[in-house]
Amino acid sequence: MKHSFILNIFKYPFNISGKELFITTSIGVSLYPLNGNTLNELLKNADTAMYHAKESGRNNYKFYKENMNSKFMKNLDLENKMRKSLKDNEFYLDYQPQINVLTNKIVSCEALIRWKNPEFGLIYPNEFISIAEESGLIVPMTRWALEKVFSEVKKVIEIDPNMYISINISGYQIKHSDLPQMIEDVLGKEKINLKHIELELTESMLIEDVSKNIETMLKLKDLKIKLAIDDFGTGYSSLKYLKKFPIDRLKIDKNFIDGITTNEDDKIIVKTIILMAHNLGFEVVAEGVETKEEFDFLKDHKCDVIQGYYFSEPVSIEKIKEYLKENTFDNN
Ligand code: C2E
Ligand code: CA
Ligand code: CA
Repeated sequence: MKHSFILNIFKYPFNISGKELFITTSIGVSLYPLNGNTLNELLKNADTAMYHAKESGRNNYKFYKENMNSKFMKNLDLENKMRKSLKDNEFYLDYQPQINVLTNKIVSCEALIRWKNPEFGLIYPNEFISIAEESGLIVPMTRWALEKVFSEVKKVIEIDPNMYISINISGYQIKHSDLPQMIEDVLGKEKINLKHIELELTESMLIEDVSKNIETMLKLKDLKIKLAIDDFGTGYSSLKYLKKFPIDRLKIDKNFIDGITTNEDDKIIVKTIILMAHNLGFEVVAEGVETKEEFDFLKDHKCDVIQGYYFSEPVSIEKIKEYLKENTFDNN
């Protein structure tokens, strides 16, 4: 109890120019001489412990332990580097085409973030998105991605006026920021019709606070934005909620697609997801399609849209423009 003394003090607001402001604290503690003999060492270890406090939900305190060390110091370094890199324009987006199975034409593409750093080289999002989420940096990062896509989508609409681009939205963004407001802000800079934008949300992030999330999704639909459920099948799918979500497309996770030509369970799961999604009025996108056999199975079972290395890896917007000009993919 006495350990939370400092945290308790911060429960009360500060009165600044007549306004009540609240802050929360995350505290790391290191002890002399147990955790170090010099001031530098003690501060470094207290800092590491503070990162653990933030990790476990903020507004918290943690005592330093030996095993906290390397991963978090590395993360701290990465976080600072990422913050700087966002300013220095080291991030860019690749786009992966999504193809209609009946026409073999690109209908949309998914924006995927990459980080090219002079020191580390090319870094893929699985390496840094979770650190960006932990540090809250995901919020300016999403804004950057929205600005970039809103500006680049214009290049593809010129060629095909029905094209749209999907953007991945992290759960942190839905929880801790006003996404519809951010979109309207970005729209002030890059004016486009929002029917050319789709947001990909994962099912696990949506079932956390369902009524609030449905409200946010309805606000987004009012702006004419398209919505998709990403990685479907990997979270705790709640069919009860799925029906309530105002979504346009459902993306079947690559894990199931991998097994559709060999594994009886995966075959049944994928067939069933497609039927269910259609009955609920959603289009179906299959992710991570790599072979003609997978493509044929999905086509036979009425999947609408295919995304995967079978057609194309994620590529630059210039390459997408070339694809669109060529018009159809050769599927043999
Ligand atoms: P995701 O949304 O499931 O994206 C699909 C991932 O599968 C991408 O990896 C893509 O390059 C890869 N992929 C596509 N087709 C194939 C295939 O046929 N075979 C295989 N093996 N892989 C394929 P990537 O680009 O490394 O992205 C990883 C994850 O990072 C994404 O998974 C998404 O969750 C996240 N992410 C990417 N960009 C962003 C972003 O701008 N914001 C946020 N919040 N998350 C992002
Ligand atoms: Ca995605
Ligand atoms: Ca996915």
